[in-house]
Amino acid sequence: MSDESQELGITESKSHKPGEWYAEVVQKADLADYAPMGGFIVTKPRGYALWEAIQESLDGWFKDTGVDNVYFPMFIPESFLEREKDIVEGFDPEVAWVTHGGHDELEERLAVRPTSESIIAPFMADWTRSHRDLPMRLNQWCSVVRWEATETKPFFRTKEFMWQEGHTAHATNEGAWEEVWTRLGQYERVYEDVLAIPVLRGKKPEHDKFPGADTTTTVEALMPDGKSVQGATSHNLGQSFAEAFDITFADENEDEQTAYTTSWGLSWRALGALIMTHSDDQGLVLPPTVAPTQVVIVPIWQEDTKEDVLEYSEGIADDLEEAGFRVELDDRDGRNPGFKFNEHELNGVPLRLEIGPHEVEDAEVTLVHRPDNAESVADRDGIVDAVDEHLDEIFDKLYESAEETLEANVREAHSPEEILGTIGKHGGYVKTPWCGDEACEEVIKEKIAAEIVMQPLEDEGGSTAGEVPEPEHDECGVCGDPADEIAYFAKSY
Ligand code: AMP
Repeated sequence: MSDESQELGITESKSHKPGEWYAEVVQKADLADYAPMGGFIVTKPRGYALWEAIQESLDGWFKDTGVDNVYFPMFIPESFLEREKDIVEGFDPEVAWVTHGGHDELEERLAVRPTSESIIAPFMADWTRSHRDLPMRLNQWCSVVRWEATETKPFFRTKEFMWQEGHTAHATNEGAWEEVWTRLGQYERVYEDVLAIPVLRGKKPEHDKFPGADTTTTVEALMPDGKSVQGATSHNLGQSFAEAFDITFADENEDEQTAYTTSWGLSWRALGALIMTHSDDQGLVLPPTVAPTQVVIVPIWQEDTKEDVLEYSEGIADDLEEAGFRVELDDRDGRNPGFKFNEHELNGVPLRLEIGPHEVEDAEVTLVHRPDNAESVADRDGIVDAVDEHLDEIFDKLYESAEETLEANVREAHSPEEILGTIGKHGGYVKTPWCGDEACEEVIKEKIAAEIVMQPLEDEGGSTAGEVPEPEHDECGVCGDPADEIAYFAKSY
């Protein structure tokens, strides 16, 4: 490796210093930079392209399932925020306030939205007159601000973050439940089919629900360092927001009814999970589904073979482009092939095609997979199909490896010592019977900062609340009292 490529490359180790390693990958793979204000980041073109890939999938699925996009102001008058007391209490420590417009003090403070229920709900109230107006499904792609007290980390936890927030109103509780499960299913699909990250579905314990919600459902992803990430949430808000904001409608008999509402959000934390899950000590690793460049062609020539190698490479690039792949032909003159390999590895290009005079002579192409350097040779004639197959294989490799990690890291424990010891030693999830008392979570949290990240659900889907299955043992893993619930403890991002 030349000095120059060493400087470009990753110097920290993922297994020894995951935090430092993560920060280095984010910066060196050109995804984001730190903003001058602590806790904020600047998203660079390559990082934003990843966010757009997520947006594209999710936005399409939303629209296919009856959602309309809207945009509401980023400011919420204090009096609006105060109409739902749980929202005020829940978000109060994290709200940023605007007190002045130019030189003048405002008559009423404006909150920078930490989430938009309080500004969207009053309009929904205006727009829903009759049962014929329901269900109403609105979504906005925007950023929100939460003045996070805990340590921030690019994408995982920032004070301003990009997300989508969906807000819906329904005539019945069943309708609201169907909505909750539809969105949770779409979040699961984004993680599993787009980001190649298997997730667990569950619900948050009562004391950790979204402020004002009846139920908060979640998808959780396990990172290789043993910590869980709350991947996205879908809330059944019951009637609390509808009551606070008068979202009522006339039913078939012209009787006034109160609606049921939901909200659901996925943020750029998904990018944090993506980077953390697949990348390695050479840099970023991306599944082909989201990679801005899926295939890089690196021609390898001497002066006397240059013309032939380049012409051959260009032909292949054209074919692949025509077939719809995102291809880059790296024919830069001033860089040797080794330098180019390192750079594209750092940037996470899933598949590299190497083309030298031998390949030209034999009408072949050498293919190298980014995740594990697996190398193979394909015929020039069938290159389009070969690339298609190899990209699928790369996706599967990434998914399977993450799945193995997840499956190997759900363990059971039946005493506080066992819970603490298991998380301390292996990380991952510890499944235990739970009496439902928050104090039991505190016991564990105080010692090793692990918390109940979710409770598993059975029968989820359809139009009812999912049931938490009964534990096989009936004593709480922490206090020993009778337990009829199951909890998953983990350290989390
Ligand atoms: P919530 O509205 O609190 O349910 O949050 C919705 C989703 O946004 C969560 O599931 C998280 O994945 C994500 N999220 C929450 N806070 C942050 C943050 N500070 N930075 C990035 N993502 C966040």
